[in-house]
Amino acid sequence: MSTPQQFSRRTFLSTAAAATATGLVSGGPVAADVMTAAVDPTPLDGPIFVSTHAFARVANEKGMEILAAGGSLLDAIEMGIRETELDADNHSVAFGGTPNADGVVQLDACIMDHIYNAGSVAAIEDILHPISVARMVMERTKHVMLVGAGARKFALSQGVEPTNMLTEDRRQRWEEWLKTQEAMSLEESHDTIALVARGADGKLSGGCSTSGWGYKMAGRVGDSPIIGSGLYVDGQVGAAGSTGLGENVMRYCGSFMVVDFMARGAHPQDACIETVRTMGRKDPQDLQDMSLNFCAVDRFGRHGAAGSDAGFHYSVTTREGSQLINAVTVVE
Ligand code: ASP
Repeated sequence: MSTPQQFSRRTFLSTAAAATATGLVSGGPVAADVMTAAVDPTPLDGPIFVSTHAFARVANEKGMEILAAGGSLLDAIEMGIRETELDADNHSVAFGGTPNADGVVQLDACIMDHIYNAGSVAAIEDILHPISVARMVMERTKHVMLVGAGARKFALSQGVEPTNMLTEDRRQRWEEWLKTQEAMSLEESHDTIALVARGADGKLSGGCSTSGWGYKMAGRVGDSPIIGSGLYVDGQVGAAGSTGLGENVMRYCGSFMVVDFMARGAHPQDACIETVRTMGRKDPQDLQDMSLNFCAVDRFGRHGAAGSDAGFHYSVTTREGSQLINAVTVVE
């Protein structure tokens, strides 16, 4: 049986070499990272927050602040994501999010800790912080996932005040859309904050929150609240989260696949690359039409990201500060 390191060297070094030779991947120093993966699993000294997109930087930094003030990693994830949920100018997450085809903002979120506890809400309405309700599901019920009216009822039973989540600006935009029914550009119509983190003690956690695809069918649930699809955390291995077209990610349990590659020795970056490539190889669609993007961190504090969307960036925050990094673009 091969050790994780042997697997990493044999499979991922050759993957990177082949990818570089054939132009399969672009946008990042793949071979160098793979070398790092094979020979240097030195744990990072300190916490690290890794999240999808530039807008998630505030979440990373809030998370860092919470840890510095003595909060738990799960507190840091929840409070970090709440920052993004509050941002009315972000039209993909919670308040100010794009509504569904009926003009209703329906939200998806989930959270997971280092020992396989998870909580999730889907298609929840009138709730400012779905990430907090997901955590309540995890900590206060025997269930993992609540949806729709039941999720809302549970939130209210826990003392959460209902909030109108449809901003005037988004309502007007929806009315325009109703008149024309035109497909919005991809940039406008979706995004997610998936935030994964490793504490200074080596523990891992993650969370995810989104309003999903703009003008989706009422009741549509994406990958984000599905444990294993939009997010997965294995405290002994690493954590991964996704953004993109949920209908594609959820058919392959994308985030679980990333963690599974890490479990077999892959550096987080290679795990993300291999996941996107695997899904692209299996699926009849063109990879470039699938919108599959992942970011990941492992138990050593190493991070990486890859996607089929050329513009995919991810945010990384350590004690040294924050960085916005261009993720590796995987092309067919
Ligand atoms: N994955 C989200 C969804 O399908 C959207 C996104 O991240 O872009 O709902």
